[in-house]
Amino acid sequence: MELKLSKMIDEQQLSERIKQLGKDITDKFQGEDLIAICVLKGSFMFFADLIREVDLDLTCEFFGVSSYEGTSSSGEVRVTLDLNHTMEGKNVLLIEDIVDTGLTMNYLKRTIESRKPKSLTTCSLLLKPEALKEECHVDMVGFEIKNQFVVGYGLDYEGYYRNLPYIAQAENLN
Ligand code: 5GP
Repeated sequence: MELKLSKMIDEQQLSERIKQLGKDITDKFQGEDLIAICVLKGSFMFFADLIREVDLDLTCEFFGVSSYEGTSSSGEVRVTLDLNHTMEGKNVLLIEDIVDTGLTMNYLKRTIESRKPKSLTTCSLLLKPEALKEECHVDMVGFEIKNQFVVGYGLDYEGYYRNLPYIAQAENLN
C-alpha cells in the first residue's frame, strides 16, 4: 500500500515546542523527583527529546501498548510490555505520542492511578480533538491537529515511517 506524505510539523517547530514543554515540566516539578513513562512504541522519539529538556532528577520507565491496526483504532488496548516499577507515592509523568479516540490515554490513566502515585501528569505531543470518542483530559499538549492520519517522529504506518524527523500527514493512494 502506498502513502502520499505531506509535511505538517517540521523539525524546528517540534524542537521549539518541546523546549517549551520541557521548561513547563521543570517549573511544575521544581524540587521534586519524577518518573517519566514512555508509552511504546510511538512516543520513543518525543520522549527522548523531551526528557533532555527537563532539568530535574528523573527516572525512566517504558510501557508498551497497542490499539491501532493500519490507519484506525481497533478500540481495544493490548499491553505489549508491562510496567514493573512501583509508582506508589511518586510523581508520574506519562508521555504519549498522540491522543486520537482517547481510549488508550484513559486506559493508561486508569492503570497508573490504580498504582497510587503521588501525582499523575499526562503529556501528549499530538491531540486530535475532533476524533475523541470519550472525554479525555490531557494536561500538556504539543500540538492540536485535525482528524487526519499522521506518521513520522516515532509514529508509524504498519511499522514504517517512524524514523522521519518530522510529522507528516499520510494519505492512502490505493
Ligand atoms: P487512541 O486510543 O487515542 O485512539 O489512539 C492512541 C494510539 O493510536 C496512539 O498512541 C498511536 O499509537 C495510535 N494513533 C492514533 N492516531 C494516529 C495517527 O494519526 N497516526 C499514527 N501513526 N498512529 C496513531
